[in-house]
Amino acid sequence: MSFDAECKMQFLFALRSKGVTDSRVLGAMEKVDRGLFVTGLFEDRAYEDMPLPISCGQTISQPSVVGLMTQALQVAPRDKVLEVGTGSGYQAAVLSQLARRVYTVDRHKRLVAEARSVFDALDLTNITAFNADGSHGLPDQAPFDRILVTAAAEDPPGPLLAQLKMGGIMVVPVGQSDAVQSLIRVHRTENGFDYDELRPVRFVPLVEGLGRDG
Ligand code: SAH
Repeated sequence: MSFDAECKMQFLFALRSKGVTDSRVLGAMEKVDRGLFVTGLFEDRAYEDMPLPISCGQTISQPSVVGLMTQALQVAPRDKVLEVGTGSGYQAAVLSQLARRVYTVDRHKRLVAEARSVFDALDLTNITAFNADGSHGLPDQAPFDRILVTAAAEDPPGPLLAQLKMGGIMVVPVGQSDAVQSLIRVHRTENGFDYDELRPVRFVPLVEGLGRDG
């Protein structure tokens, strides 16, 4: 199956029906072929609105969840964005269409290497992927206009809050890994941090330290 006009129409229809209505986000998701980020057994299902397994026992998120999280992040064209949890690289590729610069980190070296090769093939030169424990953020590149965490934390990690610019936004799934989590949006203001609860979600856990592969 290929991401042809008909497939794109169905893909975008499913996104809209789940509440992804921001035209910039829909435009970005129309440009990035999710099929390039899913390999092996589940390749044929890349355009369905479901999460799918990727290497290292992780998952590529459901497209509508990628769309809703991206929409909630309110990315502007000049923004510097940090994503924690590169996984397949799909979410970072979508963000790269909307932001000036995207840093993405994953604790699994193999996932970072695989995602980098897709970024290179697509010539997405505004993404930098690192193998690192993202629960500490990326102090060398901080502060960020936007931070997106694509693994569930028990609380919004302190180092990430500290690396958010004044006026910045972070979107993070919060909750126990074996339960339904809540997607939280944090705004950094002059007076501190404002928290909004957006919707229930289910993500793999944010795990401290590097993966055994690196
Ligand atoms: N955004 C991805 C899906 C993320 S799945 C995509 O578009 O495909 C969650 C990812 O978070 C996994 O790849 C997992 O390895 C990573 N992860 C979990 N804890 C982490 C941590 N502390 N630092 C960096 N990455 C982490």
